[in-house]
Amino acid sequence: MTLTVLMNAGPWLSVPPPGYGGIENVVATLVPELRKLGVRVVLASVETSALPVDEKIWVFPDGQFHALQRPYNQVCGVSQAHLNGVVRALHARDDIDLVHDHVEAVGLATMAAMGPDGPPVLHTLHWDLAKHPELYGNLDGGDRVRVNGVSAAQLARAPRALQEHSVGHVHLSTPLAVDADRRPGVEKGDYLVTLGRINPGKGQDLGARLARQAGFRLVLAGPVGPYHRPEDLAAAGDEARQNPDVRFFHDNVAPYVDGDVVRWVGTVAGRDRDDLLAGARAALFPLRWEEPGGTAVVESLSLGTPVVATSRGCLPELIEHGRTGLLTADEEELGDLVMAADLLDPDECRREAVARFTPAVMAQAYVDLYHRVRQLTARRFQLA
Ligand code: UDP
Repeated sequence: MTLTVLMNAGPWLSVPPPGYGGIENVVATLVPELRKLGVRVVLASVETSALPVDEKIWVFPDGQFHALQRPYNQVCGVSQAHLNGVVRALHARDDIDLVHDHVEAVGLATMAAMGPDGPPVLHTLHWDLAKHPELYGNLDGGDRVRVNGVSAAQLARAPRALQEHSVGHVHLSTPLAVDADRRPGVEKGDYLVTLGRINPGKGQDLGARLARQAGFRLVLAGPVGPYHRPEDLAAAGDEARQNPDVRFFHDNVAPYVDGDVVRWVGTVAGRDRDDLLAGARAALFPLRWEEPGGTAVVESLSLGTPVVATSRGCLPELIEHGRTGLLTADEEELGDLVMAADLLDPDECRREAVARFTPAVMAQAYVDLYHRVRQLTARRFQLA
């Protein structure tokens, strides 16, 4: 029997996303593999989404991400309008076997509120589960609404009510992992790299300080708030400081950026990103938060770049200390580990990526969860 899944990617960005878009990238990576496995996919997104699917539904003509700059009372209707369209579609048709929902908070709340007559739902939690304590702490989705995390560490921090709805975790994947072990090795440069949004949780201030202290070269790649290029941030002037990540960058990171030992290159994309990451001695994740999923971590492995990181969040699940990277609970020790990382074998990293982090591995894990969620829902009807 063909499984028909309504994939709810939300109204914020088209799929695939035009630039940065974590969740939309996961959906864009997952859907083609699901379709190869025979799943029919109805994508709920925006009209401009170009991802090949079996059917597309939308409320908004294009991505509404720009609206998030507006005050709450002017933006809170956007995701509700999108969900309203999804629920109308679900009421109007009977071919949807399961909803795979990715819309933070309101997706879960709406699906749970549909009550016992609604479809089976798998809601993927892409974010820090310390958020939304009132919603997560009181969730009642019955047997019909289930959640999954993107790492075991992330779910371990969830309130009990959310954990009771969990069917486990599925690690993130990357297209870069496909045939990663067959790509020729790249000659390593003399630098380390941090890849990600520049903010306190990702800890680029710590990385930059250690680089200056220990004398290793460090390239910081990623946006500062909405600013993707150093010249755009410079042109924005003092007004930009209203954004907390801009304040963090100016006050805590920029003092270490000397354009030589420590450089900030802004957002890198496509081939430039891959070359930067592949050529790095190691990718540094000086985390101060419990990283929930770590896409950039699995990308590093796929490109044959070992990971040096604080052992927080999903890092111990993704990295084997001494083989694919080096982890420490002591952030001051990171500088020493950088030197030892040169002894790790890039081929081990690539092999790990092929075995664990390809889109095909992720898609099979989700198909297994779809069947599990449907079985759990069916059991309720049998017992009734
Ligand atoms: N990224 C990028 N260019 C940059 C910085 C980040 O393409 O300059 C991408 C990175 O490769 C990864 C994503 O942004 O695919 C970040 O995802 P991750 O899960 O690592 O962190 P998040 O931002 O979701 O917390």
